[in-house]
Amino acid sequence: MPTIFTRIANGEIPSYKVAENEEYYAFLDINPLAKGHTLVIPKHVEDDYIFHLDDDVYLGLCAFAKKVAQAIKAAVPCKRVGVAVLGMEVPHTHIHLVPLNSEADLDFRKEKLALSADEFAAIAASIREEYEKL
Ligand code: 5GP
Repeated sequence: MPTIFTRIANGEIPSYKVAENEEYYAFLDINPLAKGHTLVIPKHVEDDYIFHLDDDVYLGLCAFAKKVAQAIKAAVPCKRVGVAVLGMEVPHTHIHLVPLNSEADLDFRKEKLALSADEFAAIAASIREEYEKL
């Protein structure tokens, strides 16, 4: 049974795509801590613990996340892009990339933003545009 994130990467479940290549997929978190909060996943490996990944998949995921973070930083006003790996909810390795203006922006206990479909689409489009320039 594929994970929900595999189904997202396959296009079976809709997502606000931010970037993609053969191996990795990036999309907006549906319950964001901040505008531009993005999840980055390997497409073909579902293992739910990042430190179980083979080195090539792990390093490739990190390199892809770095590029996506550069695009987020260019598209979303923020001091820097924070990184977190939790995996408490979805059993498919993913890296959270969260635009930060303060330490509190990476507090997963805080109330999530409620964005409209138009807002999600606009943010994803602006990050995609920056990603294409890299
Ligand atoms: P974690 O597994 O890292 O603890 O949390 C999973 C993250 O995935 C949460 O931030 C949650 O909002 C996000 N998430 C869960 N299901 C979906 C989904 O169907 N679509 C999207 N875009 N994000 C999801």
